[in-house]
Amino acid sequence: MTYDPSNIFARILRGEIPCKTIYEDDFVLAFYDIHPAAPVHALVIPKGSYENHAAFVAGASDAAIAGFARAIGKVAAMVGVTEGGYRLIANSGANGGQEVPHYHVHILGGGSLGPMVAKTFSLHLN
Ligand code: 5GP
Repeated sequence: MTYDPSNIFARILRGEIPCKTIYEDDFVLAFYDIHPAAPVHALVIPKGSYENHAAFVAGASDAAIAGFARAIGKVAAMVGVTEGGYRLIANSGANGGQEVPHYHVHILGGGSLGPMVAKTFSLHLN
């Protein structure tokens, strides 16, 4: 899969579409999800052009990967979910339900989030 620079997060990074920015530095932009799936729902995206987690860790510099990981923790604290707990989600590809093909991590919190996924499977019992 090649990176599509017309995706919505690329357009947000270029300033073509507005967002509610939470945090920005050399490596990331963090903003609120337009359709919140939890009382607090933030997105953290790298500034580099990577379509998913695999592409990011294969192609980004160590500094960019460290900066991204640290920014997630910083943003979680900024939106007030560190103490109560939260969930990080990085959907990838069709089975992961990824809608926007620019790598991003969801930070969900602000209340109990329920089961990890919508349905359960009886595979992998140990
Ligand atoms: P995915 O399914 O790709 O992991 O998640 C994409 C997320 O981007 C969804 O939760 C969706 O609500 C969010 N989203 C899509 N378009 C926009 C937008 O224009 N602005 C913001 N802030 N979020 C968006």
